[in-house]
Amino acid sequence: MPTLKKVLILTLVLATILAIAIDINASEDRGIIKYEGAPKFYAKYSSAVIFRVDDFVADPSYIHNITFHLSRKNVVFQNYQMELIDHLLKNYPDMRLVFGVITGDISGSNNSDLWSLYAELVKDYGWEAASHTRYHLPPPRSQADVLGSILDIEGNITGYKVYTYIPPYGKIGKGELDNLREAGVKIVMLDKPMQFNIPNRWDNMRITIKMDRTLPWKTSLKLMHSFENMVGGVLIVYTHATSFDWKSGSQLLNAFDYAISFVNDGKTWITVPSELYKYEVERKEIIVTQLNETSFRVELKKSMDFEPIPITLSFEVNRDVKAVYYDGSPLPKLNYFGFVPTVGFQQQRNNLIVSIYPGGTLTFELSEE
Ligand SMILES: [Zn+2]
Repeated sequence: MPTLKKVLILTLVLATILAIAIDINASEDRGIIKYEGAPKFYAKYSSAVIFRVDDFVADPSYIHNITFHLSRKNVVFQNYQMELIDHLLKNYPDMRLVFGVITGDISGSNNSDLWSLYAELVKDYGWEAASHTRYHLPPPRSQADVLGSILDIEGNITGYKVYTYIPPYGKIGKGELDNLREAGVKIVMLDKPMQFNIPNRWDNMRITIKMDRTLPWKTSLKLMHSFENMVGGVLIVYTHATSFDWKSGSQLLNAFDYAISFVNDGKTWITVPSELYKYEVERKEIIVTQLNETSFRVELKKSMDFEPIPITLSFEVNRDVKAVYYDGSPLPKLNYFGFVPTVGFQQQRNNLIVSIYPGGTLTFELSEE
């Protein structure tokens, strides 16, 4: 049966070619590092969480009781902001908040203690100070109210730039957005629910859930968090550090303890809006070019209008990585990346993640088999 013989020989030849090809591929792959991309979130965390707290004050006379002038009458709330700051710094120094500051009329030298505290939160702890206007009025708002508050913050925290505006009552008036853009504000956080993903319009960043004593938020928060750790998203939780939302300061602190206990699961990036914004802008502009078997050039397609922050790159590697150099200097080997973007590398089996400032050359030192 010559035909069967032919088929058998052909099959044998094909099988041999295939075996050789597989073998070549395998030997070619050995020891080679492959760039996989820049993950959606820093440190390749699977989701991000932003805690937003409104109604921090700059006027020290409102530090215990805050008065709002609403429809011709005064409404007074207890202010727990100092308890909250103290509690978070003591117990969760790595966790950050975006806080909306009502700057008031006298946010200059009179309140230097409060402003130095805010400067410390921003510079040493990575918290974000957002503008929450000067007078906390509904729209339409004056330029003095909106732009004045930005000047108050930037004037009192040296070298700080306001990225985020939180309009009181969750709404902005006509023309307000144009003024904000001109003042360099990138992010406007509204009270509209429900946002689960990185915003495609940063001037329309919404909340996911309100953390307060009236809603069954604990269950919802838990559900959303587990959901997002599976699909990857952004959870924005907001509240007020006042008796508008809480019966007491300790009730507020307990709620934070609870929320942090399941959000801080090793898979979640607790971040602030400006950081998420910068990371996302950089991520879209990053170019990684392979120079040789173990070197990669990392650049941005265009320059940023802010000081770049470290960005995470993911690689597939099938050997132990002994060291990673960036422009010739060794990067620290990290067990934990933390929340504030920092430089370093970590290997977990075939996955290597590296966090660096764009604009340099990465070189990997691999072990011998
Ligand atoms: Zn408010």
